[in-house]
Amino acid sequence: MPVIRPPPPSHASSSPSLPTSTSTSKIPPFAQCKYTAYTANVPNWYQITTPHHFPDFDICADCYNASLAPTPYSRFISPLPQKPEGVSTRCDFSDLWIRVAWAWIFMQKQEDLGLLGRVAGLTNDEGACPNLDPSSFETPEDEDFDFLAEIDGTGVGDARQPATRIWYCLRDPATGAELQDWTVCSDCVQHLLTIASPLQDINTQLFHPVSNGQKILATCDLKVPKEEDRTIAYIDQFIQLAESLLPASSPSPTSTAQAVSSLTSYIRRWASIPACPKSRTMGGRPRYVPFPQDIPEFTVCQECYDLHLEPLLQTQLQSSSTKPNFLAKMQKLQLPTTLFAGLTCNLSSPRLHAEFTALLNEYSEPKPSSSSPASAIADFRTLLQTRNVRLQEFRQKGSVLKTQYAQHRQAVQFHYEMMQIGIASENAQHTLQAFETLGREVVWRTENTDPTPPDSSTHMSQGLAAESQANAVLANLRLLRKEWVENWE
Ligand SMILES: [Zn+2]
Ligand SMILES: [Zn+2]
Ligand SMILES: [Zn+2]
Repeated sequence: MPVIRPPPPSHASSSPSLPTSTSTSKIPPFAQCKYTAYTANVPNWYQITTPHHFPDFDICADCYNASLAPTPYSRFISPLPQKPEGVSTRCDFSDLWIRVAWAWIFMQKQEDLGLLGRVAGLTNDEGACPNLDPSSFETPEDEDFDFLAEIDGTGVGDARQPATRIWYCLRDPATGAELQDWTVCSDCVQHLLTIASPLQDINTQLFHPVSNGQKILATCDLKVPKEEDRTIAYIDQFIQLAESLLPASSPSPTSTAQAVSSLTSYIRRWASIPACPKSRTMGGRPRYVPFPQDIPEFTVCQECYDLHLEPLLQTQLQSSSTKPNFLAKMQKLQLPTTLFAGLTCNLSSPRLHAEFTALLNEYSEPKPSSSSPASAIADFRTLLQTRNVRLQEFRQKGSVLKTQYAQHRQAVQFHYEMMQIGIASENAQHTLQAFETLGREVVWRTENTDPTPPDSSTHMSQGLAAESQANAVLANLRLLRKEWVENWE
């Protein structure tokens, strides 16, 4: 199972990452799709046309060129004629399930791309997964404002949407007990079974309806917005299980039971640990200070501690190296969750991983230019302090831009409504004049109590001016986002 997101910026190092299936190395990368939201007047769309045409499945040029063009599957795809002016389209290849399906097609060397069309066409009696799809913003602006929510420091919140419907859970194969910490909706189950189809053979051993299939209030814990890494890690576990069921793996009842047990152990392990809040504040979630004496500002969420620091420590303990190792100073000190609610996780990105790895290396083998391991610690502290200051600045700038944008949009709305009233009034005037020209007596003319109806052309020009101001603010917001992602995230 690949990382089904665009590759991180070039500063990313071989930092620890969530586990992925071993058979992924040759899957072409995924583009950073620009058309996750419906957008009009975009040139160059592609569709799967052979052997079956899926007319409702559109692929943007970036996704096509990055993922599909370099593969033999490109022969099933054709460019579309230009879409009519004003017709909005979104790229179906940006959808997470579609990317999972593509990875499965590629890994399994399937004959054609039919699975993509089938997955795109899935419908569920109970409706789609109640969690909003992070990749389907209604407008491009929504994505920019979602970035603001990432850095605006308003707390993590929970992106899971509770819903009353039928839920499924896994069972501990050893005890038969339901893993009720982790529920999944029928829509996600359907997607998993459709894509990783070998799972259908063991479906009854795998997914159990919670409360005997009665509709109850719960959340889908599989595909959760803001928790992409965790979502991918869970899906990866199901993909690995499906791979173990393929004939080439010679599955036996014992090996299948072991594979199911491995999946349930993984999910039991992580279900109760909140996913990393990234640049958001940790709010009331558990947080750790691994080096309270040396780097008190280095705070890490529970997931990153368990996923990244703990394994490093285990490796270090098993190592026979006599070099000084900063990890020897590490302790699992948990801060009270009621204090320091504004803290963020300092291991939440490839950049931060790379910086921390550099500290470890520099500490054990100081470069001639640096005087001591202490200077490596000082450099890392300075980096975190600078990043925290910059994060505050980005939050403030983002907040100002958000307010300005809302004001300009309100002005656009106001002038648009005034323009409509003005046009209606002008039409009425024309009607009156027409009646007067005909010499009719117009008795209701005096009922018009507004002596100066809005001038539609003035409001139109003011509305256009407000629109362009709103667009300028949005452009600044995008620049701010770019600067954060490229230099600080
Ligand atoms: Zn795309
Ligand atoms: Zn779901
Ligand atoms: Zn974290």
